[in-house]
Amino acid sequence: MANSLLERDARVLAGIGKLRTYPLTIANARGNRLIEEDGRSVLDLSGAAGAALLGYGHPAVIAAANRGFTECASASDMFGASESAVALAEDLLALCPFATDHKVWFGHSGSDANDMVMRAVQAATGRRRFMSFYGAYHGGVSGSMSVSSHPSQQHSLPRAGLVQIPYANPYRPIGGGDAAQAVFDQLDFLFSAGAPPEDIGALFIEPLQSDGGMIVPPPGFLAELVARCRRHGILIVSDEVKVGLGRPGCWHCYDAEGFTPDIVTFGKGLGSGVPISAVVAPRAIMDFQEAFALITTTGNAVSTSVARAVLLTIEQEKLYENAAARGAQIMAGLRALQDKHALIGEVRGRGLAIGIELVRDRQTKEPATREAAKVVLRGYQLGAAFTYVGMFSNVPELTPPLTLTEAEADEAVAVIGQAIADVENGLVSDEDVAAYAGW
Ligand code: PMP
Repeated sequence: MANSLLERDARVLAGIGKLRTYPLTIANARGNRLIEEDGRSVLDLSGAAGAALLGYGHPAVIAAANRGFTECASASDMFGASESAVALAEDLLALCPFATDHKVWFGHSGSDANDMVMRAVQAATGRRRFMSFYGAYHGGVSGSMSVSSHPSQQHSLPRAGLVQIPYANPYRPIGGGDAAQAVFDQLDFLFSAGAPPEDIGALFIEPLQSDGGMIVPPPGFLAELVARCRRHGILIVSDEVKVGLGRPGCWHCYDAEGFTPDIVTFGKGLGSGVPISAVVAPRAIMDFQEAFALITTTGNAVSTSVARAVLLTIEQEKLYENAAARGAQIMAGLRALQDKHALIGEVRGRGLAIGIELVRDRQTKEPATREAAKVVLRGYQLGAAFTYVGMFSNVPELTPPLTLTEAEADEAVAVIGQAIADVENGLVSDEDVAAYAGW
């Protein structure tokens, strides 16, 4: 019987084998590095898809988790008021200046947070439709998946009545013209033909469309879209699960994109590896009715203590500033690589949310899907873990811990440059990636 970690994993863990893009094992992790079963150290440029916001083994996180167990010890917010849950809700409200008459709900993942928003908004507004973008990823449970449409979710249908619009993509504008205007034209058409805006409860926005390709919208696009929706009373949800909380170089990505939401969802990095999510939404929606989303262990002391420590650490260590500086450093390095490697069609991002769109031909922009899988596999072999996103699976993505150092940012660029060169030189075969090219 096979007994390596990978073999045992393949035997017993469901639904993720193909999703992986290389044979990484994680025996331990410290700082911004993963330690494999054989002791090899790998720089984590994915940050566990953005969840490891403070890296691994951060003293503030360890202390807070211990405090959660020893001092607070509440296992749920359903049965009584506990200090760490209440204080975290107060912290989050203070962090969201738009939250003038708002409340907080806690969950365990971005998926349940967006799901909860859907139920609460539908009940409180009586509006049955939602609007979201093609390529969106808002979650992997039935509600939040039904307003998503990432290619990995095509086994599941969108919810009835979902109004979908394209995300304005400056690199691939619809019709080759103004990326934003093409979306507004489509919106006008939909509102006038079959999707009455007064039926739409909320628009779900990813302020950077990360899993859909780390697309940075054109300046002002989201602000204008928000204004057009608000005219019809449509609530604005900013899904900050992957790209918020300091990652864009400021606290909130909606700020970077120049709009103000009514509702915000947080997840992933909020617990820096410990499961917790949060919804900040108007009191009238949150209090419309009780029990929209009862999940027994939400608001537990460990998750809420850790999340408080994460928020405090981001502020104390000014990690949003580090995200801005390291992000600029990496993007400058990658743009220099673009001059040497025809495979790089575009480098884009905000802070430490970075995408490298790979194309076979810069004129036709044919997506270099297979090459992206190879670059990611080669990067892992060379000592850096990152994966790819995008509607064509051709955009290697970096969402490292916000604690990334200057030396590690240089290392990231060096590994990626070498990986791209090696793929261009044919060092990785189709066979090598066949087992991994799934997402
Ligand atoms: N929202 C966004 C923007 C995401 O990227 C994701 C996960 N990729 C989710 C929600 C769902 O988060 P989780 O998988 O932690 O439930």
